[in-house]
Amino acid sequence: MTSSLPSIDRWGSLGGKRVLVRVDFNAPVAEIDGVLTVTDDFRLRSALPLFDDLTSRGATVVACTHFGRPHGAPDERYRVDPLRRCLYQMRPEITLMENLRFSPGEEANDPRYGASLVEGFDYFVNEAFGASHRAHASIMIPPTLLPSAAGPNLQREVATLLSLLESPSRPFIAIVGGAKVKEKLGIMKVLVDKADAVIVGGGMAYTFAVAEGRCIGGSLFDGSYVKECVSLLETGTVLIPVDSRGLKVGAPFGPDGGPDEALDFNEDIAEGFVGLDIGPLTSEFFAAAISSARTVLWNGPMGVFEDPRFNAGTEAVARAIVASPAVSVVGGGDSVAALSKYGLQDDVSFVSTGGGASLELVELGDLPGLRALRESPWI
Ligand code: AMP
Repeated sequence: MTSSLPSIDRWGSLGGKRVLVRVDFNAPVAEIDGVLTVTDDFRLRSALPLFDDLTSRGATVVACTHFGRPHGAPDERYRVDPLRRCLYQMRPEITLMENLRFSPGEEANDPRYGASLVEGFDYFVNEAFGASHRAHASIMIPPTLLPSAAGPNLQREVATLLSLLESPSRPFIAIVGGAKVKEKLGIMKVLVDKADAVIVGGGMAYTFAVAEGRCIGGSLFDGSYVKECVSLLETGTVLIPVDSRGLKVGAPFGPDGGPDEALDFNEDIAEGFVGLDIGPLTSEFFAAAISSARTVLWNGPMGVFEDPRFNAGTEAVARAIVASPAVSVVGGGDSVAALSKYGLQDDVSFVSTGGGASLELVELGDLPGLRALRESPWI
């Protein structure tokens, strides 16, 4: 399928042409010395090769992105100023439009809004893998109006994820974590078929633990999905934690830690307690499984890794992935943030920028934004 994604290579010289590039610059920001500043410029840096290619061919490049969730109206908190400052330091010649989501037309996929975006442009490039699972105007409409192409990162992300599923070296071990079982069930259904083992950690593992008849105290749990977790467990491919680390219910936790010491639990967690990380036995058990893998796909942390007391499980898994001989693909904002926290970002084979998009691509084999490019009448 990827070979049919149109590429920018076919355009040749772009002297005097204006190119609109849809990027995903939805980067984390924090106030530093009173100024909102990008704290991880990975997504911005990733777009530079495309910008350089286009400008070296003579094009004037304007980028556009969503940033946060302003819900269709201008919102001071989500102005793209910090992104512009960061981009200006790297490539002053590239202009960045204001946040696309300041208009209700963006998320509504309004054709008039899409048309207003491309006014005055000659070409469109989608370099926003992380936004291509959303049928939003900036993704869907430009390919209907302009010669359009997939940027190099988009091409590479799609090709890597699809080839992983088509012909993985085995054993292929998938690792799924994070908070919401609902969001990850779709991919789990695909992975139990494709992978040799699917490791489940993080908050979502407790719905699986209930499906196995265990007690989970006050841990995260979504009762609507127990039946589906039972079916997934019945495949015999799913590995879930055998112990946990956590706190008393109500004890504070978060990036700044908290006053209480972490508690270790066995398979069962009593009422009044909450599991916030996989336990040491599970870390060993998961690391051993990962050590024999030839392919690893990782999406989602094993615990509340932002809190230093509940970071060990995620770090053990990250280090096991890096130490294994496997081709490793890591997707999802939180797993990527965890990798960079441990300084391991460059030690995996591929970091996918789009969490939701990589899940959906693995699950469905295609994305609305890729279809829009393939079906463009301008190819
Ligand atoms: P997701 O967006 O679903 O990938 O979830 C990522 C978030 O899940 C991270 O911010 C973690 O802090 C959180 N998380 C991981 N494990 C747990 C847990 N056991 N209980 C509560 N939150 C968790």
